[in-house]
This record gives sequence, C-alpha cells and structure tokens, in this order.
Amino acid sequence: APATPLLAVRGVKTYYGNIIALKGVDVDIHEGEIVTLIGANGAGKSTLMMTICGAPQARDGTVRFAGRDITRLPTHEIMRLRIAQSPEGRRIFPRMSVYENLQMGAALEGGSHFAADLERMFEMFPRLKERIHQRGGTLSGGEQQMLAIARALMSRPRLLLLDEPSLGLAPLVVRQIFDAIRLLNETEGLTVFLVEQNAYHALKLAHRGYVMVNGVITMSGTGADLLARPEVRSAYLDGG
Ligand code: ATP
Repeated sequence: APATPLLAVRGVKTYYGNIIALKGVDVDIHEGEIVTLIGANGAGKSTLMMTICGAPQARDGTVRFAGRDITRLPTHEIMRLRIAQSPEGRRIFPRMSVYENLQMGAALEGGSHFAADLERMFEMFPRLKERIHQRGGTLSGGEQQMLAIARALMSRPRLLLLDEPSLGLAPLVVRQIFDAIRLLNETEGLTVFLVEQNAYHALKLAHRGYVMVNGVITMSGTGADLLARPEVRSAYLDGG
C-alpha cells in the first residue's frame, strides 16, 4: 500500500467572509518530497498555506498532518507539531538582531541543537553570519528572505512551508535559496511545500507540482511533467 502522506489536504474550502477562496482543494505531500504550488495572482496559493496553519481555518474539508486531523487546531498548536512557515513578505522581527531572530526560531525546537544548527545556517547563508548583530529590519530584501528561511529551519521542521521565497530577489539570490532548499532535501530529507510565481525554477526544483486556478487545483504531476505541458508553459512561463 502507498505510504500515508505527511500532509493530506482533502476537499478544503476556505472563505473570507462570504467569499470563497478555496473551492475544495486536495493536495498530498509525502515525507522527503519537495512539492510546489504554482498559479496566477489571487489564485488562492497563500490562502492554502495559511489554511494549513489554521488561520483562516477551512470551513469544509480536512487537513491531516502525520495522520492527525489538524483542521480545527489553533495555529500555535499546529506550529508545535513542527510545521514551520516562512510567509510571503518575510515577517522577520525587524528590531531584533539576526542572532535573536534565529534564537526565536530555535525556541520551538527546545534549543538543544542551537549551536550546531546556527553553524549550519551560517554555512548555508554566510551573509547572515557577517551580519549577526545587525537588526533584521535593516537587512536587504534578499538577506531578510534568507533570515526568514533560516529562522524557520532552526525549528527543525517536519514540514517547511515557503510562500514565494523568490519574491523581489535578484536571480543569484534566488538560486542560492533554491540550492539551499535542494541541499537540505537531499542531505536531510527535509519536506518542503513551496508556493511560487517563479514557476520555472519551482518546477525544476520540485519532485511534484500542482497548478491552482481560481481556488481549484487544475493540474498536478511531476515537476518535469508540468514543465513540459504546453498549457503550463503558455500560462506560467515567459515566452511560452
Ligand atoms: P498572489 O500570488 O498574488 O500572492 P495567491 O494565489 O497567494 O496570490 P491569495 O492571497 O490566497 O492568492 O488570495 C486568494 C483570493 O482571496 C484573492 O481573491 C484575494 O483577494 C482573496 N483574499 C486574500 N486574503 C483576503 C482577506 N484577508 N480578506 C478578503 N479576501 C482575501
């Protein structure tokens, strides 16, 4: 029998007031996979990420994580199950230093691996090491994105949710971030759910992908399979 997915989203409907944003979404993420969700602005990608984290909660359907129904759990309890989120717009703590931001990330983990994990983050993102005492709010956009991801990783997540990590970043920085994600997946089996506008890089990186249109999943397949489909190329990749 196929293994139970680490995350199973089933028939999820999410509303903002009376307006339906997710119209019955099914998504599976297995342990050790990188899965990407692509789609146009306003398709509902961020809403799905947020629904997995319980804010807003699904009005219908279920979200199961590691076999447990988390649909109605408050966000802090979902976070305690080791789902870490690096949200769109970064949201690091602007008045805290790089070091303090990373400490906050490790707080959930309990702190026992702090020194070793900090060293690993600095290996992956040397920029952060050079700026260890700088306030988060004064970092460049790319540095803030690195910090947001590093902070999420400090909690040793079982599932890492990344909402548009490439947003507003130079191509070189995007590559560094995607390389870091691939390395963590290959060396440690980190499971990642990645929302991206940058469909080409996301589908290249991911084992599998989903396409969302207007609150509905319209296509799914391996990254390579989706990249090859003309309807994906024309809608989500420059130059068709
Ligand atoms: P983008 O790529 O532009 O970030 P997205 O695919 O992540 O888009 P969502 O942010 O999930 O899309 O938005 C889905 C729909 O829900 C949009 O129509 C949006 O206007 C609406 N929406 C999002 N947040 C709210 C909110 N807090 N209140 C009301 N409507 C909202």
